[in-house]
Amino acid sequence: MATLRFNAIKQTLKRKPVKVSEPERRSEVFGKNVFGEQAMRQYLTKDSFNSVMEAIDKGTKIDRNLADHISTGMKEWAISKGATHYTHWFQPLTGSTAEKHDAFFETVGDGRAIEKFNGGQLVQQEPDASSLPHGGIRNTFEARGYTAWDPTSPAFIWGTTLCIPTIFVSYTGEALDYKTPLLRSLSALDKAATDVAKYFDKKVSKVTATLGWEQEYFLIDSALVSSRPDLLMSGRTLLGHSPAKGQQLDDHYFGSIPTRVLNYMRDLETQCMYLGIPVKTRHNEVAPNQFELAPIFEEANLAVDHNSLLMEVMHKTAERHHFAVLFHEKPFANVNGSGKHNNWSLATDTGSNLLSPSKKPMKNLQFLTFFVNTIKAFHDHEELMRATIASASNDHRLGANEAPPAIMSVFIGSQLTKVLDELEKVTDGKLSPEEKTDLKLNVVGKIPEILLDNTDRNRTSPFAFTGNKFELRAVGSTANCADPMTLLNAIVAKQLKEFKAEVDALIAKKMKKDDAIFNVLREYIKASKKIRFEGDGYGKAWEEEAAKRGLSNNKTTPIALQPKISHQAKTLYSGLQIMNEREVVARYEIEIEDYAKEIQIEGRALGDIARNHVIPTAIKYQNVLIKNVRGLKELYGESFMSKAQEQMNIIDAISTHIERINASIEEMIEARKKANNLEDATQKAFAYCDEVKPHFETIRYHCDKLELLVDDELWPLTKYREMLFTR
Ligand code: ADP
Ligand code: MG
Repeated sequence: MATLRFNAIKQTLKRKPVKVSEPERRSEVFGKNVFGEQAMRQYLTKDSFNSVMEAIDKGTKIDRNLADHISTGMKEWAISKGATHYTHWFQPLTGSTAEKHDAFFETVGDGRAIEKFNGGQLVQQEPDASSLPHGGIRNTFEARGYTAWDPTSPAFIWGTTLCIPTIFVSYTGEALDYKTPLLRSLSALDKAATDVAKYFDKKVSKVTATLGWEQEYFLIDSALVSSRPDLLMSGRTLLGHSPAKGQQLDDHYFGSIPTRVLNYMRDLETQCMYLGIPVKTRHNEVAPNQFELAPIFEEANLAVDHNSLLMEVMHKTAERHHFAVLFHEKPFANVNGSGKHNNWSLATDTGSNLLSPSKKPMKNLQFLTFFVNTIKAFHDHEELMRATIASASNDHRLGANEAPPAIMSVFIGSQLTKVLDELEKVTDGKLSPEEKTDLKLNVVGKIPEILLDNTDRNRTSPFAFTGNKFELRAVGSTANCADPMTLLNAIVAKQLKEFKAEVDALIAKKMKKDDAIFNVLREYIKASKKIRFEGDGYGKAWEEEAAKRGLSNNKTTPIALQPKISHQAKTLYSGLQIMNEREVVARYEIEIEDYAKEIQIEGRALGDIARNHVIPTAIKYQNVLIKNVRGLKELYGESFMSKAQEQMNIIDAISTHIERINASIEEMIEARKKANNLEDATQKAFAYCDEVKPHFETIRYHCDKLELLVDDELWPLTKYREMLFTR
């Protein structure tokens, strides 16, 4: 057997589950490595503690003198836990996290040294960020950016480093990361939602968005992954024939978790406990070797940080267990892909979930207000929502018959559909006392606390209401949740502001508050009706129906990204002070460039593998066949052909496949050259999408056919069945 593949499989088969040590009770170690409230109480002076708490609750600035006290307390705590270094931890637009470690250690002359970490080092740093993406914001003479402490996300120790979550902005204050716009969107949403929540409860003074993500991933033995150059370079297999057995039996989903994997999960979850990531559920997913991990939901900024941190921790922990984690949305063709469901809701500082139905009719009017406004916001910005989840890798998943389609729609279930249908009939203008009583008793009052649809919910919808939260299912498994969450916060904030203005205008015209709310909601329900869809999102019929309704169906990333620089997007973000036009355009530039780069890498990798691995192997096998045919001729003389026909057919077929592969590679290279000559990033992305990428399929098709023809012993690339079923 080809050496690399053979050794990889041999290594994998010899693996034993790696021993893990776990705490007796998880609750005992939860947050042990986090500089949270408990640690702060112990290590900070009262003034310092209060100023951090105030910064968290009200967003107030921390006084510079106090920052020195805080940094000292933080350093003492970190050193007591074995930390030697500190870093500003941030999320640049590369999609991963960035950090540069500095030691606490400093010399003070005459051969002595101390551990030092002052307020300045805590609050602000200037990382060498010249290679991080900025989309034209930092020009060369001002190529600097700085990181600034985000006290709302607590510092933590990872390994021996104190990590301080920060934002990353240019010297002119423009966002160069995911966190900055997210924080701004949260503050816009807080303001807008608090104003509306006060209609129902005067005591509400703060509203936070909550996020509970569900992370799907594949876990494949690291030796097997190392034997696949395509996985190493692009995160997915660019070729490989489907195995005889895939996921058709659903046996993985319902099966028990294999011991090696379970030990990995236990180890990972223990790390998460120390880091304060409240992971709660783990299970097998649909595809073989696919799994899922989900935490208890948290305030959205913290949840986003925790998801980014988790992805790092997952990679690191996997090394110890000789696994590689694949976060790619579609690492294996014809096998289920991975997503990252984003469960989103709104929580008040008085302890209620604004998207939770209630037994009390008055509370339900509050629920309906936030519920209908969210649907209206989603309706008005559906194309922008599609844009925020677009990526080269997520293109493989959306609309691929197992994930939500590229069409954005909202699922709310039959019970709530009935309620909205009733509300649509509410009288225009003042409501009669009878109508109001009827509404309260029979419509609003009849919304059950627990919705039946919650159990048989529609798995094909990209945005589903699931009882007391909305679940955005179209987010890719590699994505940073911040981008879609920033948009969701922003559109709901904008919508709630408009709602408040309309209701207040009616109240000013002497309409009662409830009547005004019913009147405005009625119009929103009508206006947003076309976004609601309860049927099968995978079906062809929905594509046709959606087109009739005028909903977008943007199937590829270059098309899907265009709304990001629309007038609507620019005014939305700038109107709420989340991003100015330059920041909006910069993000688009980065993403559209990334798209072309990713397809370029895939194209190069596929071409190389086809030419250097597949074709030489096919020729080797063809030579074996030729030798065999020659031998038969020697043995049987003129009548050899009846014995050699099958071999001759295969020899022919191999030649045909090789020829097709070579021709397609040539065409693909030509298309790449043309695309590379384009100056404009958007044009380049379209060229990669429309002219380069289509060749992948042809090349792959013929390579996969060769995989079926060629002697298994000779095949150099680890096969699907080996990657998916060896543990
Ligand atoms: P699923 O069936 O989709 O796996 P679960 O009921 O297990 O759904 O919950 C999925 C996620 O929803 C969890 O991460 C959970 O923390 C999150 N979640 C629950 N309530 C809220 C909420 N109010 N806000 C945000 N997320 C929530
Ligand atoms: Mg889910």
